[in-house]
Amino acid sequence: MRIFNYKLINLLLICTLFNLVGCNQEKKIENLSSTNTNIEETVSNPSENKLNLTVSLLPQKYFVEKIGGELVNVNVMVEPGASAETYEPLPQQLANLSNSSAYISIGVPFEQVWLEKIKSANPQIPIINSGKGIEKIAMIGHHHDHENENHQDEDHTDENHTDENHTDEKAEGKEGEKESLDPHIWLSPKLAKIQAENIYQELVKLDPKNQAIYQKNLATFITEIETLDQQITEKFANVNKRKFMIYHPAWGYFAKDYNLEQISIEFEGQEATSTTLASLIKQAKEDNINVIFAQPQFSQKTVETLAKAINAEVVILDDLAPNWSENLLQVADKLSQSMK
Ligand SMILES: [Zn+2]
Repeated sequence: MRIFNYKLINLLLICTLFNLVGCNQEKKIENLSSTNTNIEETVSNPSENKLNLTVSLLPQKYFVEKIGGELVNVNVMVEPGASAETYEPLPQQLANLSNSSAYISIGVPFEQVWLEKIKSANPQIPIINSGKGIEKIAMIGHHHDHENENHQDEDHTDENHTDENHTDEKAEGKEGEKESLDPHIWLSPKLAKIQAENIYQELVKLDPKNQAIYQKNLATFITEIETLDQQITEKFANVNKRKFMIYHPAWGYFAKDYNLEQISIEFEGQEATSTTLASLIKQAKEDNINVIFAQPQFSQKTVETLAKAINAEVVILDDLAPNWSENLLQVADKLSQSMK
């Protein structure tokens, strides 16, 4: 269908050009035929006309496509079903980056290590932080990336670390111990607006001639986000309790936005110990919790043990679903149902 349309446009173009120039100007016609060949080549591969961008996560692809529309082609590093916490890009994915006009990062742990490799393998590719200007909160019950701490300390000693990706990943905890900051900024509609604005600014820098299109798309997307925010707020208007228990505490920003309290089952990125499990069972009973939330990317073992102990139902929430808007609405449905 698309190819057909391009051919049609091409035909129309050729006709128009011939009419403009007239048939007696042979030299110009010669030039035109070479121009026509160029048009042919370009339209036979429409993706070459687009801005190739690489992002870390599927929800970012949703954001970039909302603003870039037909003008962008988006590759995602973390493949569907993989965890954003532990992902290691494949060598082929790193090689493919040379076709990208920019890498749009978001501040997830794997980027700490991989952005360095991306930078050294492709020094010409700008790395854009779509989370610029967002103040991160602490990750509850959780130190996401203990095993990567050495890498991060090394990273901080070299020169290119003034950007926010690297300076705001850690905050000092109560005991002077390093505490992880919550990377799940894509799960808050309010923060998604900031990310959309950042992506817009960068697309305009990369492709200024299409600024008007990006601006129009941004406005439409902001309206979509505001409607979504309103719909989610309404879902939590008449709930009886505001606590929920979840394996991996990805919904900190969402909980903050809608005045909910997230209880983490996982502790410091590890399975709960039997002591933790016992206290979670006690807490679930006290708070009358009858649903345990889990993520498709994590092990369900502890979740099932806990659910069995308190006779709760297990419900899956996906924080990396490709249809961001629809997913957040479904999550709000599931959470609010569990609070009735
Ligand atoms: Zn996570």
